[in-house]
Amino acid sequence: MERVDDPQRRTQLNRAARLAVVLDRDGAHCLWCGRGFTTLIRPTTDHLVPRVKGGPSWLENEVAACSRCNNDRGHRTPVDWLAECDRRGWAPDRAAIGEALLRFRAAIHDRGGQRRAATYLDGQLRRWPA
Ligand SMILES: [Zn+2]
Repeated sequence: MERVDDPQRRTQLNRAARLAVVLDRDGAHCLWCGRGFTTLIRPTTDHLVPRVKGGPSWLENEVAACSRCNNDRGHRTPVDWLAECDRRGWAPDRAAIGEALLRFRAAIHDRGGQRRAATYLDGQLRRWPA
């Protein structure tokens, strides 16, 4: 049996395996627009803290998102993108997104490092609940 809770192992999971873990955790729906995944509404893993903003490729930094939301969000922050989802009349899963922000912050606290991502996250959490 794979030990997906092991940080070393976790970083080695391939894309399909990472997506499976994220879907198992977040459920088979997009956290941003609330749509259930289908063959047409494809699931992806979206980075809470974008890689260009220092976000690591940790499962804690990834949430289930449809490919449309992943693309449309671009490098917008979670709080700003959530506001945009509301503006578009979608049904974002606020509770799950809030939990994901806190879970990622706790993971950084436990493992150390990731200063840029930690600063970014703290700024988001100060604006939460968004
Ligand atoms: Zn979506």
